[in-house]
Amino acid sequence: MIKDTKCEIITVGTELLLGQIVDTNSAWISEVLANSGINVYYKQTVGDNYDRLYSVFEKAQARSNIVVVTGGLGPTDDDLTKDVAAEIFKTQLEIHVPSMDKIQAYYDTRHQVMTENNRKQALGFKGGIVFDNEVGMAPGLFYEYDGTWWFFLPGVPREMKWLVSEKVIPFMKQKGILTEQLFSKVLSFQGIGESSLETKLQDLIRSQSNPTIAPLAGNGYVTLRLTAKASNKVESEELFQPVEQQIMERVGEFFTGYGHVPLELQLMQLCQEKGLTVSSCESLTGGLFASTIVQQEGASAILKGSFVSYTNETKANVVGVPQSILSEHGAVSEPCAKAMAEQTRLKMNTDVSISFTGIAGNQPVDGQEAGTVFIAISSNKGLEVHKMVFSGDRNAIRERSTQEGFKYLISYLKKFY
Ligand code: ATP
Repeated sequence: MIKDTKCEIITVGTELLLGQIVDTNSAWISEVLANSGINVYYKQTVGDNYDRLYSVFEKAQARSNIVVVTGGLGPTDDDLTKDVAAEIFKTQLEIHVPSMDKIQAYYDTRHQVMTENNRKQALGFKGGIVFDNEVGMAPGLFYEYDGTWWFFLPGVPREMKWLVSEKVIPFMKQKGILTEQLFSKVLSFQGIGESSLETKLQDLIRSQSNPTIAPLAGNGYVTLRLTAKASNKVESEELFQPVEQQIMERVGEFFTGYGHVPLELQLMQLCQEKGLTVSSCESLTGGLFASTIVQQEGASAILKGSFVSYTNETKANVVGVPQSILSEHGAVSEPCAKAMAEQTRLKMNTDVSISFTGIAGNQPVDGQEAGTVFIAISSNKGLEVHKMVFSGDRNAIRERSTQEGFKYLISYLKKFY
């Protein structure tokens, strides 16, 4: 059992020494281990050369009690990691049957003949542990030699990361050598912009180190990720609690819940729960509302369709907005938004319909200033319309309008259904 961890990372590969690839593996592993309370003291990079690998491994064995090696587990002649390590450990390599079967099956299903060198990838240390690699061919290996724990992982970053997260860290946890872990919590907010959220919490964000507070903004939402280093979940909650309380005192009114669920998904869940269908009639958003829903799997269960009615002619001829509304009030108006939503709901035969009409460009239209947007919602429970004025370029206005539409629709459905 290791008490005082002294960890070393070794990256293997001549390409790393030639600068052909950048060693991102050791940085990633260092961060993960450091965050888990493991002391990383040394890093070495070595080429695919037997003697130099031997001396690097010998040195690590002498001064470290945890060694993580990446690279050189592959099938080719220059993949020497396991041969050298077996010599240091004074053990043999033997075929790990489940890994061999997996490799063989890979070739069988592709109707290809497996070349003999592929057997190399299935070799493990006699008396060691093999970690199945679910995202690649070469498994990860563990061997304990003279009080030092050795982990061997493939060089491919995706495989290495998977093995560290799914096998190495759980293994260390199980063996009780992880003193700390990272725990995260995401707080979601709506109705407040990222910059004003940051301004209100600036001193907290700057002064907090455990947990740290990281704001993140997406389309129409802002989240705060709190990350605490703690030895267990209960301890992490104790660290989160006072910080969360301070956050809530300042911006609690905008808090919508833990974790982040995008608005379109919230809408879909709500509609599915209540058995409702939706349609949209979009002028300035040009279909953005509908296409945002369509990004999510299962969209067809709630969205019946959308009119992209950009010109007055289309609003009148296709959607059915009365000509009199267009000539009296213009397309960017409350009556037009209402008629767009009503007509679309009837034509598409949905429970609810939403319309968007406004000015995404930078010139006033029909006496309305640039950035003016009307959003109407229609159902047999009633007709609602909202007016807002946005600033920013045309696509920012289209995005904002879409997000506002989702918010209005969600609160409409919560209110009436
Ligand atoms: P496999 O046999 O699964 O392909 P391996 O264990 O033989 O992997 P290498 O052949 O050394 O590993 O590396 C495979 C690929 O992984 C390299 O071509 C490179 O793209 C990437 N790689 C290797 N080491 C590193 C590293 N330290 N940082 C980032 N990428 C790496």
